[in-house]
Amino acid sequence: MNPLRIAVLSPVWFPVPPTGYGGIEWIVWLLADGLVEAGHDVTLFASGDSRTKAKLDWIYETAPSERIGMTLPEVHHSLHCYEQAADFDVINDHSGLPGAAMGGAVQTPVLHTVHGPLDSEAGTIYEQIARVSPGVGLISISMNQRRPKPDLPWVANCPNALDFSLYPVQPHRGDYLLFLGRMSPDKGCHRAIDVAVTAGLPLKIAGKKREALEQSYFDQYVEPHLGSQIEYLGEVTHGEKVELLQDARATLFPIEWEEPFGLVMIESMACGTPVIATRRGAVSEVIEHGVSGVIVDDYRIMAAALEEADRLDPYEIRRYAERNFSPERMVGDYLDAYRAAVERVGHPQVV
Ligand code: UDP
Repeated sequence: MNPLRIAVLSPVWFPVPPTGYGGIEWIVWLLADGLVEAGHDVTLFASGDSRTKAKLDWIYETAPSERIGMTLPEVHHSLHCYEQAADFDVINDHSGLPGAAMGGAVQTPVLHTVHGPLDSEAGTIYEQIARVSPGVGLISISMNQRRPKPDLPWVANCPNALDFSLYPVQPHRGDYLLFLGRMSPDKGCHRAIDVAVTAGLPLKIAGKKREALEQSYFDQYVEPHLGSQIEYLGEVTHGEKVELLQDARATLFPIEWEEPFGLVMIESMACGTPVIATRRGAVSEVIEHGVSGVIVDDYRIMAAALEEADRLDPYEIRRYAERNFSPERMVGDYLDAYRAAVERVGHPQVV
């Protein structure tokens, strides 16, 4: 099959791959490299401090992380890509709502990957985008993510993946529980604390609290519990994160929201550490209950579920994750979507 000229438009807030927090940038990194390895001509639009096997194009030399969520950097960065649309057979936008809205302005097919939940204002905005830019096809990262808005112009489901070489399996079980994630009520750090206290086990917490809401949640629900049993390590780097995951007895994922995917779950499974999660969002698409983790209906029974998690074989947990969340599978899913989009508008030019 002919190689495609593909533009991958990353979010601009963190470099690709990210040095600290930043889930989408990991996916974009894996995807762009995987597409290059599959023989395609790939340009990654990301900040200039990114690392990639693709050609790198940027408008911001360093990621404008301190302006996260502001409109101007996002619009500036996305337009830089769209101005060059005619050079590509397909554009795959991961950048955010402004990037998706602008996609209708160019002739090149644009596929936008939805990384966030849709049971919020964003869901309504995607409906507006579908009306204003009906040619922009949407890619989900789990089938559950689509549930609030099944009638959006979905063209593919491409679950996330992991570079397994960066998450070595560790066959021993440590003595602490782990919570890894943003300081937000949705993610449920306070519920993880409750589980650790009930189980009488240490809990290590790593996660981001850069934003005002995250800080106030932390101050109110996490900080008062810190001590010898409950420890907060701040926002950890990749290396620290892998060690924490490898040495944990189990990773707790006590979410109470429609989590669109949940990378932390596959990171934990890659390291051979079972995940105990509440049955919300994409959890049952990511974990196989009784094989790679334990899914419960209520976080209050997580402590009791520990014994079941202890019985799971770390190598089998890892194999399950490799089978389902390999970069090859993800790249293949995306390529199928790109080819179908290119077919819809006619034949691509050969590189
Ligand atoms: N993460 C990190 N350092 C931290 C906490 C989290 O690097 O201190 C990473 C985590 O390992 C994962 C990402 O941030 O790769 C969070 O992605 P996920 O899909 O689990 O949740 P999101 O925050 O995107 O809802």
